[in-house]
Amino acid sequence: MDLNANLTTVRTRIAAACSRAGRDPASVTLMAVTKSHPPETVREAAAAGLMLLGENRVQEAKAKIALCPASLRWHLIGHLQSNKCRDALRCFEMVQSVDSLPLAHELNKWADHAARTLPILLEANIAGESSKFGYAPGRLLDELEALNALPRLELQGLMTLAPWTPDPEKVRPVFRRLRELRQQCEDRLGAPLPVLSMGMSSDFEVAIEEGATLVRLGTVLFGERRGKTWKTAPGGDAPAPRPPAGG
Ligand SMILES: *Cc1c(COP(=O)(O)O)cnc(C)c1O
Repeated sequence: MDLNANLTTVRTRIAAACSRAGRDPASVTLMAVTKSHPPETVREAAAAGLMLLGENRVQEAKAKIALCPASLRWHLIGHLQSNKCRDALRCFEMVQSVDSLPLAHELNKWADHAARTLPILLEANIAGESSKFGYAPGRLLDELEALNALPRLELQGLMTLAPWTPDPEKVRPVFRRLRELRQQCEDRLGAPLPVLSMGMSSDFEVAIEEGATLVRLGTVLFGERRGKTWKTAPGGDAPAPRPPAGG
């Protein structure tokens, strides 16, 4: 894997998509998705200037973050269970995958314990895929005011995962719908929601053309993932201890 070469290609492709859409490339934030990759890969990413990282599992992130430079910023992009909210608050600057009111209440509770504000995105399941998490758009609108009223959560926008397809043009309507849904939310709240987190390795250019402000890229930066998770020590959550220095 040549991360610097991949990153150059990705930045060129982002700039080209922005130019087609008449957008400023600075309006698109690049997140590196490091799920399944070891801390060494995170350090390479950081050295290449990628300081915003995405992880989809709390346990994996917790073990990994402990071994990575403290200057990095981490977002949770995978489904969160209520019993992991406390750890999520400790690990992540933002939770992009809020998909229910009970979960939001639990996050609000732990944010209050930590005396902090937690920026969040609401995950929308635009295509209605049963294999994916996320709000149905109607339900998201129904619960919007209640979500927005939670004092320790700061609603910043919406996130979605498009169905996988070899032809990204096919999922353009999904991205367009997320943008429209954001507009509907802004109208209801009378406040801006600046973040549209959409676009992955297979479809980020189309997502940018449709207004993505944050793209979440793994494979185009780091190559194919070999496993589902970064392997921690057998039987435990903690990574294997490093050998003692000089030993
Ligand atoms: C894995 C993942 C990504 C990155 O996927 P790639 O296709 O490897 O770029 C983006 N978003 C979410 C929510 C993910 O789980």
